[in-house]
Amino acid sequence: MSKLEIFLESLYQKYQPLNHGKLARYIPQLAKANPDWFAICVVTTDGREFTVGDYTENFTIQSISKVFTYGMALEDCGRDALLEKVGVEPTGDPFDSVIRLDENSKRPDNPMVNAGAIATTSLIKGSEPTERLNRMLEMFRRYINRDVFIDVSVFMSEKATGHRNRALANLLLNFGTIEPQIEAILDLYFQQCALVVNCQDLAMMAATLANSGIHPISKVQAVQPNYVRDILSVMYTCGMYNYAGEWAYRVGIPAKSGVSGGIMGVIPERAGIAVFSPLIDARGNSVRGLRVFEDLSQEFGLHLLDLS
Ligand code: GLU
Repeated sequence: MSKLEIFLESLYQKYQPLNHGKLARYIPQLAKANPDWFAICVVTTDGREFTVGDYTENFTIQSISKVFTYGMALEDCGRDALLEKVGVEPTGDPFDSVIRLDENSKRPDNPMVNAGAIATTSLIKGSEPTERLNRMLEMFRRYINRDVFIDVSVFMSEKATGHRNRALANLLLNFGTIEPQIEAILDLYFQQCALVVNCQDLAMMAATLANSGIHPISKVQAVQPNYVRDILSVMYTCGMYNYAGEWAYRVGIPAKSGVSGGIMGVIPERAGIAVFSPLIDARGNSVRGLRVFEDLSQEFGLHLLDLS
């Protein structure tokens, strides 16, 4: 066993007993997750995979999808047009906050909070909803390197209960930031959140970003390399909810988490890392995931700004 494999196994043993945190319940289907699920995966940019725990367990990607649709919107609209609609400023507010969407700021702060993600998704090109969904699934397929699908019950569950996101979309429409087809835009947003992945997929997706957008195994270009910088920048500054600053300080790598318990981190030119464990803290980050990333960063000197 390599040093990395031994270390991943020790992290799994160390943090499996940690059962603080709660399952996300505001999307009813997510409350059905098993709180014991726990997986850690590392994929290097040359395609080597290191896995421990429940790494084949399926879950919905939720907010981590925002990273990839941001890349797609950059390709569809270009950097300048996208920046006019969605900023790149961290908020320090919860991901679903409506507070900063006021008369003065018609542009959501960044694409990692829900308002910014809904505006970003609204910019995905396609003549009708099915074409937009198919283009999005095709994009995810490039990162995952197999067929992909949506968990329909999670999608329906969020569609039925996503009143806050519907309110955000209505505000964005009122400001003229998005087009009037609110339900179609929200459907696509809820569908991207309900994409089914496992922990190994997430690590592979992160490794693809670490590898300038080229999938480490298929060698397919999943996203244009000139946009990887933009994607990683917003991950670094805004990817971990209202813990993003502390994460940048403690862990120091671009990352994104989701309320279903995934965290995906990118070590540029080296590897993608993913942790899956559905017990989340009050800000929405996986409790075991935070600990695992802190330990990995410490052990392997992954903090991007650590010059010692
Ligand atoms: N679909 C979820 C929402 O919009 C994603 C939340 C998340 O993972 O942060 O509320």
